Amino acid sequence: MAKGVYIDGRWSDGTDDWFEKTNPATGETSWDGQAASDDQVGDAVRSARAAQTDWARRPQHDRTTILERYAEVIKKRADDIAAAISSDMGKTAWDAKSEAGAMAGKIAVSIKAQVERAGVAFSDTAFGSAHLTHRPHGVMAVFGPFNFPGHLPNGHIVPALLAGNTCVFKPSELAPSVAHIMADAFAEADLPPGVLNIVQGGRETGAALLDGDINGLLFTGSAQTGLFFHKHFAGRPEVILALEMGGNNPLIIWDPADIDAAADIAAQSAFLTTGQRCSCARRVILPTGKWGDEVVDAIVARAKALRIGDASDENAFMGPLVSEQAADNAIEFQMMLSKKGGKSLRRLKRMDRGGGFVTAGVIDVTDATDIPDEELFGPLMQVIRTDSFDDAIQRANDTRYGLSGGLVSDDDALWLRAHAEMKAGILNRNRPTAGASGAMPFGGPGLSGNFRPGAYYAADYCAWPQASQVADVASRLGAVGFPK
Ligand code: NAD
Repeated sequence: MAKGVYIDGRWSDGTDDWFEKTNPATGETSWDGQAASDDQVGDAVRSARAAQTDWARRPQHDRTTILERYAEVIKKRADDIAAAISSDMGKTAWDAKSEAGAMAGKIAVSIKAQVERAGVAFSDTAFGSAHLTHRPHGVMAVFGPFNFPGHLPNGHIVPALLAGNTCVFKPSELAPSVAHIMADAFAEADLPPGVLNIVQGGRETGAALLDGDINGLLFTGSAQTGLFFHKHFAGRPEVILALEMGGNNPLIIWDPADIDAAADIAAQSAFLTTGQRCSCARRVILPTGKWGDEVVDAIVARAKALRIGDASDENAFMGPLVSEQAADNAIEFQMMLSKKGGKSLRRLKRMDRGGGFVTAGVIDVTDATDIPDEELFGPLMQVIRTDSFDDAIQRANDTRYGLSGGLVSDDDALWLRAHAEMKAGILNRNRPTAGASGAMPFGGPGLSGNFRPGAYYAADYCAWPQASQVADVASRLGAVGFPK
């Protein structure tokens, strides 16, 4: 049984309900233990509060050095991290290793971002000088999603700690294991006790953390949960909320010369990480006619030929979905699309090996009606055919979300239009929608977040600016009509 609570640098058993996660590829238990109770969550927040003043008072250099040491330990433990991620949520070997690599890479990027976006600046003025500095918020609650259970919470925790905040991290109950390795790595890097605390558990543990004495909530997860948090903190502007939510992402393919390249980009956009990336393309929009038919056929051929396997298969492109429940949801969503008039081109089906394994699906929804503007977090591509590029842009923007999008086209003029008109925070040309750089901001408008993009811009929500006019000596002031 795993220990579910990390407070003041020590692991202990949770005292609330027992829960477990099984590997969706093998059915084996990957984590089991008890969730943190409300009292334990309270203790974790108090520990973070007690550690915060000293942590924030340290010179920036101390915090940076500890984070750099953490990066070194994470690099050494990359294989353990990848194995923990794969066993909880089924990620393939290459995908889990790339997540572990991204976690280590995050530290140097965050240090650079903090200096650039949340550092210090001085300028001379007539009376003396103007100073810009940044101050931490205090105690940050960090909520992780299951699909990048290491990289995404790490992407909040690292900039938060650099800025002088302390954290209480609640990992996803669908992928709890990697948090233990992160805690060990921080301890090995000499992070002081209490600066990072961890509480394992599901929604109830999360609810207790929301009600704790926190100064910020750094969340990555579904729009449904993000909206709930947004309402929960309504009327409390003193609590910083960074909400990174999902998308119903469009990819327009318009007449590129290389049909195979277009099909590669579309299939990777939709099926990477078994469709479990927030930036995966959900809707692929193409012209009507023969050329569009050929691209669709090439996409379907790829969906059929994808190699699907577990983490022991080094050559598998796609793993299982996170759980059997997720597989049921995907099939139900596909049935709903069919009932509304969608025509299946390649069915998403459960595989004989069971667990979370499904095949990749493609469904033409051009003539379907009342399709809900929802994110299906799985490998199901909706195809939409249109007669004009104008209509393609309009269909692409027909969503309340705005996370990622893309255009596959060799035509510069079309790219200029797409760039100006498509509503997506991550908008790529001739690249998969799921491609994003840690050295850029990550987030988008609409239901995809609350305009607090993460990645490079995470430094912005981890500290607040303090602007000072400074005269070293008090001297008398003059003003029109003011007595001398
Ligand atoms: P989720 O919203 O179900 O859960 C995320 C976290 O919130 C978990 O730790 C969960 O326990 C907690 N939580 C959920 N409901 C809660 C409640 N009522 N009270 C307290 N805590 C609660 O998300 P998920 O299924 O783990 O992750 C997939 C989702 O995340 C997708 O929608 C995906 O698009 C999104 N996502 C967004 C980004 C981004 O950067 N924009 C990145 C990755 C994933």
